[in-house]
Amino acid sequence: MWPLLRRVRDRPCEFRPLAEEKKMLIGGKWVDAASGETFATIDPARDEELAQVPLAGQEDVDRAVSAARDAFEDGRWSELEPRKRAGVLYKIADALQEKAAAFAQIETLDQGKPVNFAIGEMIHSAFVFRYYAGWCDKIYGETNPTGTDTFVYTLRDPVGVCAQIIPWNFPLVMASWKVAPALAFGNTSVLKPAEETPLTALWLAKLAQEAGVPDGVLNVITGPGETTGAALTKSPVDKIAFTGSTAVGKLIMQEAANNLARVSLELGGKSPNIVFPDADMAKAIPQSAFAIYMNAGQVCTAGSRLLVEKDVHDEVVDGLVGAAGAWKVGDGLDPSTMVGPLVSTTQLERVTKYLEIGPSEGAELRLGGHRVAGEKGYFVEPTIFTGVKPDMRIAQEEIFGPVLSVIPFTDIDDAIRIANDTMYGLAAAVWTRDLSTAHRMARGIRAGTVWVNGYGGSDPGVSFGGYKQSGFGRELGVHSIELYTSTKSVWVSL
Ligand code: NAP
Ligand code: MG
Repeated sequence: MWPLLRRVRDRPCEFRPLAEEKKMLIGGKWVDAASGETFATIDPARDEELAQVPLAGQEDVDRAVSAARDAFEDGRWSELEPRKRAGVLYKIADALQEKAAAFAQIETLDQGKPVNFAIGEMIHSAFVFRYYAGWCDKIYGETNPTGTDTFVYTLRDPVGVCAQIIPWNFPLVMASWKVAPALAFGNTSVLKPAEETPLTALWLAKLAQEAGVPDGVLNVITGPGETTGAALTKSPVDKIAFTGSTAVGKLIMQEAANNLARVSLELGGKSPNIVFPDADMAKAIPQSAFAIYMNAGQVCTAGSRLLVEKDVHDEVVDGLVGAAGAWKVGDGLDPSTMVGPLVSTTQLERVTKYLEIGPSEGAELRLGGHRVAGEKGYFVEPTIFTGVKPDMRIAQEEIFGPVLSVIPFTDIDDAIRIANDTMYGLAAAVWTRDLSTAHRMARGIRAGTVWVNGYGGSDPGVSFGGYKQSGFGRELGVHSIELYTSTKSVWVSL
């Protein structure tokens, strides 16, 4: 159990007294929408309104983008001594870590996720800020060999104003993956959290302000994607960083073409979790349950396709049905809960639609398959479909719920073929004790992350991103410098 968990349980919820989180941060001011319009963010475990949040319109988006532009142009952040910039980011990390328990409560109320997972995410977000604080004074250039009568060197400049649009599945984690590197490399940001989960991003903005992030360097605007998000992507920004669905990623790329804003996209997945007969089943089976039921399956890297070698198919499926029993469904604030509600009624409808599509395509329901009866919240049972063919919709389409499709395979080549047979390429896992099998699979799978004998490892120092229609650009780690800086070659004639 997380050491901080007791603090969550013993502490009264800190959410309601926070007035600032119901306003947006634009140019250093906490403001309502210019129109005065608001929208509700919902507690999905209780189907109740949590708070009204400003609904940013065109005027608000324009103000946020121009505040970020002014803050970028006058160098108040990018020209700050790197060590001072680092100091500010370290302070954000410290504050996040110190307030992790309270942040976790808010995340759970707003998103639904179990608080014991939420607290790990809050600590991870603090680590992300700490990691990028360390980058501020390590943004080196190069010297280039050109001859004796010239001296050429490169500088790495920040890209400028970044529009950053994030989803609702890991709200604070996604905010930290976007904001921490953008700021570390000297950019300014307009962040739009998902309309379902705006609260922790707003609170993060408050911590950033208190830590000394200058006015206009980080702006957070709240509102729906179709209006607020679309207005932001049409704005004169230098870069758009997006995480969300592949369909919206395509729209964003089209919009970005108008300003030739640089784009990075982290999109959906249908990740294969592949079990060979020689796997350590005592690990492979429970972690396969983790791979699909964590965050109620609302994970871009969810192991939603379980590929099992045919000879161990029944053993693995039986084991998984048993392991799924540990994934207790319920209110995320209850520390024994492992699967919270889905985030919204939209997501509930989407997932339950697939619960009907599975059997209609001929898949066999082995476990679950229903919305939890008698609950107001948006709870769905951990579900397993067997007899799934690779071309079925439940094997091809991202469900984003606790729904597992089990597909048998015959040998390595068959496993690689099935693993790669979707439009996605975000992540994969391989379970085997054979080194050669592990490395052949890792090489053969077209995905940005491959885990061997584990699932879901993530670290601020390890780059993350997609192949194929799972997007492009690598967040985290050393490669994020490519997302948030431009190189400049300086020629000096001697
Ligand atoms: P989404 O629509 O792609 O939302 C992601 C973010 O983009 C949200 O902030 C959203 O705003 C915003 N957005 C939506 N339409 C936009 C537009 N036209 N222009 C600019 N921004 C826009 O994803 P979703 O509807 O929340 O989820 C749908 C599916 O996306 C899921 O079922 C799953 O398959 C996938 N998904 C993937 C990830 C991932 O990590 N890769 C995360 C979440 C969802 P609002 O939501 O605030 O309206
Ligand atoms: Mg909510």
